[in-house]
Amino acid sequence: MPMYEYKCEKCGEVFFELRRATEREEPIVCPDCGGEGKIIFSTFAQGASPESCSNKGDCPSGST
Ligand SMILES: [Zn+2]
Repeated sequence: MPMYEYKCEKCGEVFFELRRATEREEPIVCPDCGGEGKIIFSTFAQGASPESCSNKGDCPSGST
């Protein structure tokens, strides 16, 4: 299972969890306070997105 990064909306705790890809966006219980944690989409985790591609200008298929 891949590991995802989450941040608690209650206390701000950041933690990692091993979850199935299909469950990655579902809320998770914070191990610190029991609040609701939401996933953080790290820039490296999903690869280059169309937005970052246009910003950096290094899109492999976007030349000219
Ligand atoms: Zn918390």
